[in-house]
Amino acid sequence: MKKLALHWKILIGMVLGIIVGLLATYIDGGKGMIQDWVKPFGKIFINVLKMIAIPLILAALIKGVSDLKDISKLSRMGGRTIVIYVMTTIIAVTIGLVLVNIIKPGESITETTRTEMVENYGGKTKKYKEEAKNQDNKGPLQALEDLVPSNIFSAATSNRNMLQVLFFAVFFGISLILIPEEKGETVKKFFDGLNEVILKMVDLIMLAAPYGVFALLAALVVESPSVDLFKALAWYALTVVLGLALMIVLYNVVIYVYTKKSPRFFMNGISPAQLLAFSTSSSAATLPVTMERVTEHLGVDEEVSSFVLPIGATINMDGTSLYQAVAAVFIAQAFGMELALDVQLGIIATATLASIGSAAVPGAGMVMLVGVLGYAGIPEAGLALIFAIDRPLDMCRTIINVTGDATVSMMVAKSVGKLGEPHVKNWDDNYNK
Ligand code: ASP
Repeated sequence: MKKLALHWKILIGMVLGIIVGLLATYIDGGKGMIQDWVKPFGKIFINVLKMIAIPLILAALIKGVSDLKDISKLSRMGGRTIVIYVMTTIIAVTIGLVLVNIIKPGESITETTRTEMVENYGGKTKKYKEEAKNQDNKGPLQALEDLVPSNIFSAATSNRNMLQVLFFAVFFGISLILIPEEKGETVKKFFDGLNEVILKMVDLIMLAAPYGVFALLAALVVESPSVDLFKALAWYALTVVLGLALMIVLYNVVIYVYTKKSPRFFMNGISPAQLLAFSTSSSAATLPVTMERVTEHLGVDEEVSSFVLPIGATINMDGTSLYQAVAAVFIAQAFGMELALDVQLGIIATATLASIGSAAVPGAGMVMLVGVLGYAGIPEAGLALIFAIDRPLDMCRTIINVTGDATVSMMVAKSVGKLGEPHVKNWDDNYNK
């Protein structure tokens, strides 16, 4: 019998999760049951993905950089990667700004709804503001200072410090290139092997993906706030989702024009990572799967993917930056503020930087949004307006974050002649025909 492709299995898991979650909300004690007996499996699934994110970044990047063999190749590819990442982010913010100015979702919020939401959710957003404050108290070069860990082992204990781990890995990889080959050989072989082992772990974890997303979504549905809130925020949510959808179209067009690969090929290849991004709201948790899909199913050479993707998961968040632009202007509109053109242009810069600084974990985009609001003089109390619907939008923007990374890796691969044919080499040889 022909086996179902992985993305279909994951999709079925998601749909069943939503249905079971909805049913449970109608049954007495159903919510508790899902929380006690289903949710833990979702948590375990995310944990096991997150568990390998840091070792993967270390192994993949050290392997990726040292494979390049000479520094000029590294700086060429590194430069290209960063430039394309920043460009796609700026395009995303711009699309968000144009849409939010055309649709004007904030104007449909009445004053009563606004007051009500600020009262209801004001307390809950405190945590975000405090987290953001910690970042605010620092000087202009703080981001640079934060890039360099004072202790790699303590940096590697939190997925929020991925940028620091990245720094260490690139530095280590460069040094590995610079020592005589015979001396570095063993170290290089070790990281090559480690990389293989971790990719195998991803394969095994993916066997559980349909069940994992089932548990995640069932728990999310029983814990989600009332539908009424969604209605009040429907225009805002729609603006964000429309912008994100446009980004998907853009990625496909760029890939088609630049690499001649069809949208079908690209979307089929990357869809399991997208579905996982949606279910986990975390590009860091999704990274192992993104790596595997891009390398084996989209034909990007490991030399490119193991360099471009870990960096992308950490700094390239097109979905997050688009959302931050829409959210900032939406809040301003809801508070009856007019934002001058220069302020809006400033939002392009701040949202780009804020998305680079956002950790690849759930809700991080909202923390960094505080900075964008602060820059544009928009009341932070407005966070309460978008709080209720942030999780579903987080799920959607994470899809774009991951898809953007995959797109850029294909472009970089093409530009250095490293885009080949897919070569599925693992278990899904048998399972994913
Ligand atoms: N959840 C997003 C990610 O991990 C970040 C965010 O926008 O909150 O990519």
